Amino acid sequence: MSFKIPKNLRIPGPTPCPDYVLEAMGQDMINHRGPEFQDMIKRTTEGLKSIFQTSNDVFILTASGTGAMEAAVVNTLSPGDTVLSVSIGVFGDRLGQIAETYGANVIKFTTTWGTAADPNDVKKVLDDNPNIKAVIVTHNETSTGVTNDMAAISKVVKDADKLLLVDAISSLSSLPFYTDEWGCDVVMSGSQKGYMIPPGLAFVSVSERAWEASKEATMPRFYWDFGRAKSYLERGQTPWTPAVSIFYALDVALQGMFKEGMENVFQRHIDLANKTRAGIKNLGLELFADETHASNTVTAIKVPEGVNGGDLAKRMQSDHDVVLGGGQGSLTGKIFRIGHLGHVYEEDISIVLSALEDVLPKIGFNG
Ligand SMILES: *Cc1c(COP(=O)(O)O)cnc(C)c1O
Repeated sequence: MSFKIPKNLRIPGPTPCPDYVLEAMGQDMINHRGPEFQDMIKRTTEGLKSIFQTSNDVFILTASGTGAMEAAVVNTLSPGDTVLSVSIGVFGDRLGQIAETYGANVIKFTTTWGTAADPNDVKKVLDDNPNIKAVIVTHNETSTGVTNDMAAISKVVKDADKLLLVDAISSLSSLPFYTDEWGCDVVMSGSQKGYMIPPGLAFVSVSERAWEASKEATMPRFYWDFGRAKSYLERGQTPWTPAVSIFYALDVALQGMFKEGMENVFQRHIDLANKTRAGIKNLGLELFADETHASNTVTAIKVPEGVNGGDLAKRMQSDHDVVLGGGQGSLTGKIFRIGHLGHVYEEDISIVLSALEDVLPKIGFNG
């Protein structure tokens, strides 16, 4: 390779992969319409169902997370449908934009970035707009480092008897998520976040109600068609050629997570987030997100007065081999982010914190 692979990749996806995942991906190809693949897709689909905590259908799509977002929209909605987009950041806006692109009439609900959506406010919008058919919402907003209270939001949505589509791309497998208990109709996730594997696969769950909606839905769909995915899955296949190597990765990573135990995985993410937030405050820096809803997979931090966010990123990589996430959209240059999801442990956070302690005073921080 003509460049050096950083030792401390602390962006919130793609996330680093354990050696056993990298080794699994080094295997040669198999027939994606043969018996080995059949076994593997059955096993991985079952594994994902247990992570999603669902008995709904789960499909593995060859795409990045945005593919799952588009799939959720086009399989359940029709042009002209009124959709409530609950967005608390860049990724929430993206989901709303996809619905709009396909002709939905999108009502935009938003909050000050860095805060979560208040379920009572969502309820008010639902009460005021009885024609809303579906609610689209982000569980964990990666751009601001905020986790929405999905239990409370889904209750409001289900009490109003609406279809509920949830982006859980940067939370599922790292934070507890209860697809069936919360009544989520379509839940989306993506391989390169908490699953400890590379980008290339996206996951969706589809409830009975979502299937009903799909019968009426007239948005155009071909690659993303859930009906095709279901009929092929019954034969242990995908409609289109899957990212076979990423399936190898998923297969072993799921086994790794189940061996660690999902409760332990969740606890590790809580501990990592607590350590990150405490360490950041200890350095005299300010958290961007409202702490009552701060994410346990990614921490957003304000770039302090007198410091240039670009310089910070550069020095962290050149001096310490630490790669930080930057701000996205209107937050560019205003925040930086530390991803702590997937294959990440306490010592990784210690490295980031001591690197920050070294670099910050050298680039104008005198907190
Ligand atoms: C990463 C991410 C996505 C999807 O982005 P891709 O680049 O398409 O994988 C969507 N929503 C959230 C919350 C994310 O973190």
